[in-house]
Amino acid sequence: MRARTLKKNKVHVVTLGCSKNLYDSEVLMGQLKANKFEVEHETDPDDAAIVIINTCGFIGAAKQESIDAILRYADAKKRGFVQKLIVTGCLSERYKGDLEKEIPEVDAYFGTGDLPRLLKTLKADYKHELVGERLLTTPRHFAYFKISEGCDRPCSFCAIPLMRGRHVSIPLETLVEQSKRLAAGGARELLLIAQDSTYYGLDLYGKRRLADLLKALSDVEDIGWIRLHYAFPAGFPDDVLDVMRERSNICKYLDMPLQHVSDRILASMRRGSTKAKTTGLIAAIRDKVPGIALRTTLITGYPGETLKEHEEMLDWVRDTRFDRLGVFEYSHEENTFAFSLRDSVPAKEKKRRAQALMALQQGISMELNAAKVGKTFQVLIDRKEGGDYIGRTEHDSPEVDNEVLVDAAKHYLRIGDFADLRVVGASEYDLTAEPV
Ligand code: SF4
Repeated sequence: MRARTLKKNKVHVVTLGCSKNLYDSEVLMGQLKANKFEVEHETDPDDAAIVIINTCGFIGAAKQESIDAILRYADAKKRGFVQKLIVTGCLSERYKGDLEKEIPEVDAYFGTGDLPRLLKTLKADYKHELVGERLLTTPRHFAYFKISEGCDRPCSFCAIPLMRGRHVSIPLETLVEQSKRLAAGGARELLLIAQDSTYYGLDLYGKRRLADLLKALSDVEDIGWIRLHYAFPAGFPDDVLDVMRERSNICKYLDMPLQHVSDRILASMRRGSTKAKTTGLIAAIRDKVPGIALRTTLITGYPGETLKEHEEMLDWVRDTRFDRLGVFEYSHEENTFAFSLRDSVPAKEKKRRAQALMALQQGISMELNAAKVGKTFQVLIDRKEGGDYIGRTEHDSPEVDNEVLVDAAKHYLRIGDFADLRVVGASEYDLTAEPV
C-alpha cells in the first residue's frame, strides 16, 4: 500500500491513563514545539512521521489498552504510515525489557523520567528554561496542575511507586510562577493533581505545606477555581480544610480515594486507616467545609474480600452518601505487596460487586441531584455539544463527574466563562439549567 507523504518534523502524541500522564504529554509537547517540531495530540493520525505513545501501566485493563495502542501503531509502521515509533510512560517504565522483546517494531522505549533522553533520540534538546511550560491539551480555561511526582505510601495493591518513584514535591514558588503563566494564558481553573497531594512538602520542607500552597495559588489573579484531587486519608492535614472554607476560589470539592472500609482489608491494604478514622474524617471534612462535595474511589474483590465485607462497604456507602464515586475491580499486580496474597475473588464476582456499588451510587446521585432543582450555581462553561452548552459546577471535575446542560437554542453562553445558572432539571449524573 502506498505510504502517505509523511512530515519528518511532525509528531503525533497519544496519551493513555490518568491526568498526570496527560500533564507529562503536555510537557513533552511543549519541549517538542520549542524544538521546532509540529505537534498534534490525539487527533486522527494523518501525516506525522513520528508517533509517541505515552502509556499507562496501572492495572490490567489499562495495561491492555496501552499494549493495543502500541500494536496498532506498530502495524501502521509496518504498512508505511509511521516512520518512527516511540513508547514512553508507566507501562514502558515497568515492562521495558519484555516490550522490547515482544514488540520490536518500536524504535525506542523510555521510562517516566526519561524526557531528555527521549528528546535526544529525535535530535532535540531538553530546554531547562521551559520547565513547567506545556502545550495544553485541555480547553485553555482549565489545566491539570501537577504539584509533585511519585509516592512514598506502601499501599499493598498499588504499582504506581514502582513506575513513578519516591514522592518529590515541586517547590511552592515554582508552582506559583507556573500558575501565573497559566492564568495569563487564559486558565481560570487549576486541577491540583499528584499521586498523594496531601503529602505535599513533607519531602522538601520537612512538613506538610498543602495549605500554604493552596493559599498562595488562591492569591493568583484570575484563577477562579482551584480543585484538589488525590488526597490521602491517613494524616490528612486539617489546615487544608480551613483554607478551603475561607477562600472562595478553592472549590468546595475534595477527591480522596478511600479504597475500602473494612478494618481487616484496610490493614491488609496497608492504608494506615480504619473504618472509624475514615468515617470520623469524613464527618470532620463536612463539618469544617459546609456544602463540600466528596469524591472517592473504592476497590472491589481485594484478595480475601468476603461477601460480608463487601456488604459492609455497601452499607457504608449507603450511609455516607458520597457525591461522586468511582469503583475499580481489584487487579493482581506483580511486584506489589498484595501479589503475595491469593487473588481469591473470581473476576465475575469482582464485576458483580463493582456493579452493585455503582447501582447504589446511581440512586444516591439521583437524589442528590434532584435536591439541586431550583437552586443557583456558578457554572464553568466547557464546550458546546449537540444542542447544548456543557458546563460544571464547583462540585464537578472534568471527565469524571457530573455536567450541567444548557439549551443552546434558547440561551447564549461563552465557553470558558463562569455563568450563574438555575437548575431546572436533574438526572442521575447531569443537571439541566438556565441563566438566572
Ligand atoms: S497513595 Fe495512591 S499512588 Fe500512592 S501507593 Fe497508595 S494508591 Fe498508590
